[in-house]
Amino acid sequence: MTDTTQLSDQSIPERAVHKADAFKEPPAPKRVMSIHAHPDDQEFTVAGTLAKWARAGSEIISVCITRGDAGSNDQTPREMTQAELARLREREQHNACRVLGVAHVVFLDYPDGVLQPTLELRRDLTRLIRQYKPDVVVCGDPTVRFYGESYMNHPDHRVAADVTLDAVFPSAGTRFIFPELLAEGLAPHQVKKIFIHGADKPTTFIDISTTLDQKIAALKEHKTQLNDWDPGEMMREWARDEGKEHGLEAAEGFRVMILQEEESQE
Ligand SMILES: [Zn+2]
Repeated sequence: MTDTTQLSDQSIPERAVHKADAFKEPPAPKRVMSIHAHPDDQEFTVAGTLAKWARAGSEIISVCITRGDAGSNDQTPREMTQAELARLREREQHNACRVLGVAHVVFLDYPDGVLQPTLELRRDLTRLIRQYKPDVVVCGDPTVRFYGESYMNHPDHRVAADVTLDAVFPSAGTRFIFPELLAEGLAPHQVKKIFIHGADKPTTFIDISTTLDQKIAALKEHKTQLNDWDPGEMMREWARDEGKEHGLEAAEGFRVMILQEEESQE
């Protein structure tokens, strides 16, 4: 904070400082866990960043809390059963993750559309975090209820994000929360950073100009949700909007919470 005075002494315009900050893109983490409610949530939101990190060598674990078996009335043929839809959507998620270079895909099989912030879900996510030991967790923003004037954030999205944050802190790192996990041989694990997408005021922007096509290709794997609709134009517009204030052609914005500084601190 005290740096501000120094900077203004050197007559660097505030705007330029802001821009320079935006370009300080964090390095690709070693291991990332991306946690979402439904198949396709990840592809609509953070897939450009994941693809970029995968190219840089990050090991990525994608967790889908439901199998998307509620789908949407518009896109689901009347004759399709829920079990059939779940099977198809699971396969689509695997295909999308393959396009992105995501190494592991995990399904928790909670029912779609009625997700609740239960301790059972928190324990399941805590278990995965302790098993895979990610440095970074990627999830949504549980505090955002409304986007613009025509989209109310899906309750499953809010719950998935809320419980993920609770699993990261304090559950994953605290020995005596869920002692049954200790009994399973899962020691506490401290996640270093959380990347929260869909936040009102993102603080970190990842340049996805080199992976935007890959993001769109991955999203197109969710055929049951898109049918004839080509999401390319909308995704390009979102990426442009997200990047334009920071001089980026295409970006994904995040609120980043730093829970533990990198080792080099010492
Ligand atoms: Zn969703």
